[in-house]
Amino acid sequence: MPTLSIVIPAYNEEENVPLLHEAIRKVIDPQQIDAEIIFVNDGSKDRTWEMIQKQSAQDPRVVGINLKKNCGETAACDAGLRAARGTYVMTMDADLQNDPQDIPAFLKALDTGVDCVCGTRVATRGKGDNFIRVASSRIANWVRNKLSDEEISDAGCTYRAFKRECVDKLKLYRGLHRFIPTLLKMEGFTVTEIPVTNNPRLHGESKYGVWNRLFKSFRDLLAIRWMKSRLLGYEVAERIGGTQT
Ligand code: UDP
Ligand code: MG
Repeated sequence: MPTLSIVIPAYNEEENVPLLHEAIRKVIDPQQIDAEIIFVNDGSKDRTWEMIQKQSAQDPRVVGINLKKNCGETAACDAGLRAARGTYVMTMDADLQNDPQDIPAFLKALDTGVDCVCGTRVATRGKGDNFIRVASSRIANWVRNKLSDEEISDAGCTYRAFKRECVDKLKLYRGLHRFIPTLLKMEGFTVTEIPVTNNPRLHGESKYGVWNRLFKSFRDLLAIRWMKSRLLGYEVAERIGGTQT
């Protein structure tokens, strides 16, 4: 079993797939990180799946999953997470906005025993993104934290790593990839943040505009708020009887 599974949802990212594969290799090979790289093609309309097949033929560490149709980033993430076999699991964007050079820092943070490590672009945001993206992301984060009583500085950053046992406890719905740290905390897991680099997207287009970044995800936020308020949170004081082995 690999130490690390890197899960990458990809929708219309044909130019980025080989570049990202190469960039990951440049980090994991010299550092001898035993990893599998899981590309999930989310019903792309371009040659993304062909490129994934090509990379997989060259490198047995590349696993390809081809979804029948476009189902959204959360679904693609979920498909990859369920297929992951590593002790640790990471998610990252296919567009090279997340820099593979940060992978060792995630592993180092996990080594301290924390269950989930989230990347935060707060320090580097202006570098890779235009004003509208930075502003809408800041507003969304502020509202999210206020309404869900949370302290994640960059919930929109899906560059994250966690122990694989976290995956078994995740029940994701559309749009909830933004709330994975909160969902894990609700299950009793520990969450921390590390700063990550944010690069500009050089190929392909962003799949989100202000509408789905701010307004559509607001509905999901209300669901999370409700779930948090209805957590069972019981502890068994005693148990008697029955057959115990
Ligand atoms: N993505 C996906 N399915 C979708 C939309 C996006 O798999 O329906 C992937 C996309 O290819 C990328 C990641 O999710 O790898 C994040 O998307 P994007 O980079 O467009 O988001 P942004 O960085 O602009 O917030
Ligand atoms: Mg991106």
